[in-house]
Amino acid sequence: MSLQLSSKAHLSRNVPLASYTTFKVGGVAQYFSEPTTCLELSDHLMFAHNTKQPVLVLGRGSNLLFADSGFRGLVIHMRKFGSDQLTIREKLFVSVSAGVGLFRLNLFCQNAGLSGAEFLCHIPGTVGGAIQMNAGFGRKGTLHREIKDILHSIRLMDFKGLQHEISKSDIKFSYRNAQFPIKGIVLEAIFVLTARSTQYIKNEIYENFRYRNLVQDLSHPSAGSIFKNVCNYPKTSGQLLDAVGMRGVCVGGAMISRKHANFILNMGEAKASDILALMKMSQKRVFDEFGVQLKPEIRYISDSYETQS
Ligand SMILES: Cc1cc2nc3c(=O)[nH]c(=O)nc-3n(C[C@H](O)[C@H](O)[C@H](O)COP(=O)(O)OP(=O)(O)OC[C@H]3O[C@@H](n4cnc5c(N)ncnc54)[C@H](O)[C@@H]3O)c2cc1C
Repeated sequence: MSLQLSSKAHLSRNVPLASYTTFKVGGVAQYFSEPTTCLELSDHLMFAHNTKQPVLVLGRGSNLLFADSGFRGLVIHMRKFGSDQLTIREKLFVSVSAGVGLFRLNLFCQNAGLSGAEFLCHIPGTVGGAIQMNAGFGRKGTLHREIKDILHSIRLMDFKGLQHEISKSDIKFSYRNAQFPIKGIVLEAIFVLTARSTQYIKNEIYENFRYRNLVQDLSHPSAGSIFKNVCNYPKTSGQLLDAVGMRGVCVGGAMISRKHANFILNMGEAKASDILALMKMSQKRVFDEFGVQLKPEIRYISDSYETQS
């Protein structure tokens, strides 16, 4: 069933969320929308405001775990929002819509001879989600880079539908998080890059791809690393989990990867509750053995999740 709003956009009801996440897990969204324009988006936000629904913004769902009970409120899926809008502004500045995938951004930059975003290439998210998460990556022996390192500014829509230009210096970035001075939804980002040969960019992308395949477990649906690394601790979360024997441990349809102990895999019929149980068990074992409290990198979305709206 769908509701017709004042713009052409529809809102759907009771939409299963599992297929909108890389974990392939989760219940239904009470309301669900896929805006393609600012007008549609502001229309949806107005609906949420008037009906007092919490709003959850969804990119590619590659860092989210939706509860089995779903989400009571409005999920706004940004994948179709300006999904093909990439432009070169002046020589080294690229403007990109929030719904554009990071792989697509890289193909565009490669063709334009613009370097700097290669580290993002195989992270399976959107530009908007990557900015909110301050996504990052680095091969062993190279610098770990974060999206903030190449960001110039963003355009954001607040939850009342007003748009704001925000420069990077006004955003508080931290490890896997970004705090905007105004709460809202990223619409567009401007990146500042460096001119380089297409061959150099291709090589970088290939090396990143090779390294990721070597260390990450891409055999089954997951949400990438489950826990953040502990600041200034000599072991990574994966190494801590490995040390307490978590590799291969299963709960229901979920299993800790045998290849990378900080990945939980959906082996087929996993429920969010299976994944949460594995996370709790992991945290307890690491705490008991090392006195270290692991903090989730993935965001668990249930009705008690504090949305920004
Ligand atoms: C196999 C695999 C490998 C991964 N490797 C890495 C890695 O190397 N490095 C890394 O950093 N991450 C990694 N990730 C995690 C994930 O891909 C990143 O965090 C990614 O940036 C999330 O983007 P998304 O579009 O999927 O966001 P989502 O998961 O949909 O959302 C993440 C957060 O961003 C918010 N959000 C989404 N879009 C917007 C928007 N337009 N405006 C405001 N907020 C928004 C959401 O509300 C949520 O809070 C990996 C994931 C997988 C599955």
